[in-house]
Amino acid sequence: MQSNSPILVWFRRDLRLADHAALTAAVTSGRPVLPVFIWAPEEEGKWAPGGASRWWLHHSLLALSKELESKGSRLLIRKGASASVLRDLVEETGAEAVYWSRLYDPLLIERDKAIKASLTSDGLEVKSFNSALLHEPWTIRNKTGNPFQVFTPFWKNCLAQGEPSEPLPAPASIPSPQKWPATASVESLELLPRIKWDTAFYKEWKPGEAGAREQLDQFRAGVMATYKEARDIPGVVGTSRLSPHLHFGEISPRQIWSAVQENLAIDTRDGLVRGAEHFLREVGWREFAYHLLYHFPHTTDRALRPEFNDFPWLQDERQLKAWQKGQTGYPIVDAGLRELWTTGWMHNRVRMIVASFLVKDQLLSWQDGAAWFWDTLVDADLASNTLGWQWTAGCGADAAPYFRIFNPILQGLKFDPEGTYVRRWVPELARMPNELLHKPWEAGPLILKAADVELGKTYPHPVVDHGEARDRALAALSTIKKAD
Ligand code: FAD
Repeated sequence: MQSNSPILVWFRRDLRLADHAALTAAVTSGRPVLPVFIWAPEEEGKWAPGGASRWWLHHSLLALSKELESKGSRLLIRKGASASVLRDLVEETGAEAVYWSRLYDPLLIERDKAIKASLTSDGLEVKSFNSALLHEPWTIRNKTGNPFQVFTPFWKNCLAQGEPSEPLPAPASIPSPQKWPATASVESLELLPRIKWDTAFYKEWKPGEAGAREQLDQFRAGVMATYKEARDIPGVVGTSRLSPHLHFGEISPRQIWSAVQENLAIDTRDGLVRGAEHFLREVGWREFAYHLLYHFPHTTDRALRPEFNDFPWLQDERQLKAWQKGQTGYPIVDAGLRELWTTGWMHNRVRMIVASFLVKDQLLSWQDGAAWFWDTLVDADLASNTLGWQWTAGCGADAAPYFRIFNPILQGLKFDPEGTYVRRWVPELARMPNELLHKPWEAGPLILKAADVELGKTYPHPVVDHGEARDRALAALSTIKKAD
């Protein structure tokens, strides 16, 4: 092997320079490095990035290009089948090695395995690295050697593995080839929506490694100290909002871990320690999601608990549309779905409420909900989305039992008692008094008039009656129990 032949570093969902083991290994070799991103959505099948994810990807690629340029390098952009693009680049540049960070989506594992086998058989050096997880899914096993299906023992086992190693610094500079091959532009990938539904995204988010770091530092300096309590209140910024940055690998869990430990080393106030521990535990849920996806790859489409594959879900386009558009007549549900549409993100508590409403009150399938989230979330992530939906539908690992049905009125009163969240996203109800805001149909005509609300006109009547819907859901559950 020529000692100065270039190394291709294939960027995928690891759009950063720091704590990037593949990039660091390539740079350390002293050989020229060719960073490349390949746009091949068809290789992800029905889980190709949705609209909101494409918006994020566009901006994240621009940010990565800039970061690379600041190190004397560039990001090559290509479109087409990954295997043939890599081969073309090998031919054009004389590269003799390809490095990348591992992905865990079932289709991509298969694709990457095939590419690795084929390039290796042609004499190329192919290396893959962990960049997305604290622990590879195959390294965490229960006492019988099987994957975990319950979170708490899973996380205990992860913690027992000891502190994750320190994150790697970004390379000071990246050696370039003598000649750069041709590249497409980020714009030519046409990732931005044609219809401008993304205007609010620009003020909500700063995609890219620098944005991720800012978000983490801001969280550590402020919200982390109240995280344990505030994380359930959708009307305040009480969480890190790091999920899209984590999904696109603009920051790694190892960097998060290490940054949080820095805080804990100098500040041991009760609230902060509790907040930090709870926050890392949530990062642990992300690890758990990847563990489950890796060991139970069919769960992206089918329930982990097989009896749920026979659940009598309804197919009702009108109900589904009402949910998607935030027009169900249940204020906390509608607020969540409108937040999602406008910002590409939804608060975790409200994700659980809207998901429960879809699968239990409306009796629509969790797959319908997962597909909508897939298209509209900037943090759409196959592992976490699958876990979130199966958890809520009661058909996954360590899930909330199906018979435990969230009451959207009580959830609203408990987690949004002043109505801050609902008033922001459902402004037509802004003038309703707190005690009726989450159930406007119980208000008398005078109160509705004073609040300028006309049910059925300015705000919809409820699409289902929660009490009746609850009975219907339990009856539906009993049919699969019998079958079981
Ligand atoms: P924080 O509370 O600050 O948590 C820090 C990080 O921990 C998050 O960024 C995330 O990476 C991880 N995390 C937190 N909660 C969970 C969880 N329950 N499961 C897995 N990881 C978690 N998260 C996604 O990243 N992508 C999805 O597509 C997704 N779909 C979901 C669907 C449903 C129905 C539900 C109930 C949850 C879903 N979640 C998903 C999990 C969770 O809602 C988001 O990760 C969280 O709201 C992101 O906000 P944050 O970054 O402020 O979280």
